[in-house]
Amino acid sequence: MEQIEWSSLGFGYVKTDYNVRCYYRDGKWGELEVTSDESINIHMAATCLHYGQEAFEGLKAFKGKDGKVRIFRMDENAKRMIRSAEGVVMAPVPQELFEAACIKAVKMNERFIPPYESGASLYIRPLLIGLGAQVGVKPAPEYLFIVFVTPVGPYFKEGFKPTPMAIMRSYDRAAPLGTGTIKVGGNYAAGMIPTVLAHEKGYSACLFLDAKEKKYIDECGPANFFGIKDNTYITPESSSILPSITNMSLMQLAKDLGMKVERRPVPEEELLEFEEAGACGTAAVISPILRIDDLDEHKTYEISKDGKPGKHCEKLYNTLRAIQYGDAPDVHGWVKVID
Ligand SMILES: *Cc1c(COP(=O)(O)O)cnc(C)c1O
Repeated sequence: MEQIEWSSLGFGYVKTDYNVRCYYRDGKWGELEVTSDESINIHMAATCLHYGQEAFEGLKAFKGKDGKVRIFRMDENAKRMIRSAEGVVMAPVPQELFEAACIKAVKMNERFIPPYESGASLYIRPLLIGLGAQVGVKPAPEYLFIVFVTPVGPYFKEGFKPTPMAIMRSYDRAAPLGTGTIKVGGNYAAGMIPTVLAHEKGYSACLFLDAKEKKYIDECGPANFFGIKDNTYITPESSSILPSITNMSLMQLAKDLGMKVERRPVPEEELLEFEEAGACGTAAVISPILRIDDLDEHKTYEISKDGKPGKHCEKLYNTLRAIQYGDAPDVHGWVKVID
């Protein structure tokens, strides 16, 4: 095979050897199939194309110094995909099937798992879509579950560096009682304009406020928000945030490191008080925040005083990465070693 330059990998799609698929037909899931085909052949009237019957997941496998491969908190991704499926009335993928498909996809593409030294990892993308010829709005009769993998580079090529984010009040990502809490493509469609605008204006992400009152911090595009002050890790509680597994892990690690943890509504003005803040998710673990500009109210909240990540962010980032790569003991049972 063409040699992969592990150190120059970004966060993009790289073709691997195989992907794993499973069909739901006649009320039941079939056998796992393995294919090298990167395409899917589906009916043009499939519900995933018209009515958003689609959910996805994102998780990673890491190669350790000991050569072992570890998948991080796969059980949590499996459970979340069940909630997502139920949230748009699709057939849920049973947890055992989800885990078996991820493990198979990782093992079949073993040669694409980046070496420990590279700081890169293998991204796992499970996808669930509604199939069948249908024009009326109703759930599909059939579903396809696919797991593909792709090697992704270390997120911070130039190092772990804070970036600016923007609040844009004329856009909402999710309604208070909408689909914000499940991982479906429709939420990304709703956030596409502000995300593109934020990037064009030089921001790394758009920080969404709650859609109803426009008073509280919700999420940063594809990542959860947290702020730190007085040795306390604070993350928003709301009915439209996607529960990030990275955030859940950081809350536990913050407690382990002797910090207090609060999950509650976070008013925008509180941004003035944070000593550190970040966005968290599988892709980057933590993206520290430099400053937040409220573009409509013409306000700026300076978070990082010296342009560097704060000491709590750095500690949390290093602690989580050490567990993922097997450099630190897995005291919470978060890691599945593949053999
Ligand atoms: C996937 C996702 C996250 C991050 O979740 P992780 O489980 O930590 O990867 C945060 N917000 C949104 C909207 C997401 O889709």
